[in-house]
Amino acid sequence: MRLRVPLADAGGRPIAEPYLEAIRTGYGPDFRVLGEVGRALNGRVVFLARDLRRDVLMALRLTPVPDQADEHDLEVARELRDHTPSCGKCGARFRSNGRFCTQCGADASAMQEAWSSDELRVAVQERASEREMEILDDIRIPGGRVYFAVHARTRALHALQLEETDAGEFALAVTGMLQQLLAETTAPGAAKRNRA
Ligand SMILES: [Zn+2]
Repeated sequence: MRLRVPLADAGGRPIAEPYLEAIRTGYGPDFRVLGEVGRALNGRVVFLARDLRRDVLMALRLTPVPDQADEHDLEVARELRDHTPSCGKCGARFRSNGRFCTQCGADASAMQEAWSSDELRVAVQERASEREMEILDDIRIPGGRVYFAVHARTRALHALQLEETDAGEFALAVTGMLQQLLAETTAPGAAKRNRA
């Protein structure tokens, strides 16, 4: 999709967050933009957004069009999909968030048993609040979840990883996931690649 990113409004006043405004205008209400992942030296800018209709979190990449002032190409650089846990007994992939394996009837993972995703999110938000962060979204990864949070003052996005420890407790840590995502999606010739 070709997108115009005006830096000033009709009256000549600078727009505070021109990229964000342009994406919101271009994609409409079916996209919830969480915030900016970062900018690369080659002018590419990456945003994190959720496609509400397909319910998929994705990295959106804006690439300046050469010699076209405020024109940018907007594309999905990557989809960040929930990791699908598999049954510890028979190995079948769980298709839903049901408690029992549809193949063999075994109980789902301890994490799913003990905590709902809503309960986890409330607990993580408590910890994030101590760091002035607001959790906006999350995805499931092998062995835990990653929460995407925005800092109240800087508006910067952070990825917080929740992992189950050997003792069966949960530990929360800031990860370099977003920096890695930015590097991978803004590299010259970075092609569309979906994470499994
Ligand atoms: Zn099973």
